[in-house]
Amino acid sequence: MASDGRFCLEPAPLADREAIELAHDPEYVSAFLEGTLSAPAIRRIGFPWSEELVQRTMASVGSTLAATKQALANHWGGTLAGGTHHAFRAEGSGFCVFNDIAVAAQWLRTNNRANRIAVIDLDVHQGDGTAQIFRDEPNVLTLSVHCEVNFPFRKQQSKIDVSLAEGVGDAEYLRTLEETLSRVFEFGPEFVFYQAGADPLYSDALGKLKLTHAGLIARDRMVMEAVRERGSPFVITMGGGYSKPIENTVLAHFEPPRKFLGSDESDSQEGQGEQTGRCRAYEVNRIVIHPSTAFDGRADQAVNNGAKEPR
Ligand SMILES: [Zn+2]
Repeated sequence: MASDGRFCLEPAPLADREAIELAHDPEYVSAFLEGTLSAPAIRRIGFPWSEELVQRTMASVGSTLAATKQALANHWGGTLAGGTHHAFRAEGSGFCVFNDIAVAAQWLRTNNRANRIAVIDLDVHQGDGTAQIFRDEPNVLTLSVHCEVNFPFRKQQSKIDVSLAEGVGDAEYLRTLEETLSRVFEFGPEFVFYQAGADPLYSDALGKLKLTHAGLIARDRMVMEAVRERGSPFVITMGGGYSKPIENTVLAHFEPPRKFLGSDESDSQEGQGEQTGRCRAYEVNRIVIHPSTAFDGRADQAVNNGAKEPR
């Protein structure tokens, strides 16, 4: 991704505790950072506690915060991590310790950089943690489009939930998304977060939907075009992806930005009349990375993949 010169990849800064506490209970934050969470709380997260996990977690949230600041300056920012949407205010879940998007959204609001914020979560699993954190906050619209018969089995209530049946493919998915996105933009968001999980892909071991690669690219294009049309700054994060082979997930995560963000294709679709600073801004953006792979996950994902360690 870095090799074509359109993207700048750099290591993520670590988030600081103060930022984390904008979206999380201080006692929970302390217990995680100090390694004093209860055994059931650790089990619910799904990872054994370690200093490395703390570093990784703070880098993951830090990457989304850095991408958010980038987006304020240049309209969009991205991270090769994040999307840990199963983390609740006072507990972790499904391999998610802290909710990076919730932290970044709260950072924007606290610093008066944006008030009305939309979270578009298209991971195949419901964004239950994000829904819970913003349940009583009218200025944050949470959308989750997910497969109904999938983790988490006890769903939370997002502002907009779209529960799809098992086996839904490209046509129905894209039709539904188009209708749903219009509701998101009726809300008038000043900033948009996009959790672009790649696990609705047909080859995903946990997804239960049947989107093709072309369908997933069309999904991402639809979101990015809709956001750009409205001119809102936005951040794209990763999310889940458990394809067999895993190369399908990698392709699904990287093709959309390659094809669309700051690309020739995007320029030609815009037309010469639209060659504005906004387009150029996309070209100079960077993607923030951190040293390990993104995930959202469910507790049995590591077992399914035969892995003993987080990946
Ligand atoms: Zn997922």
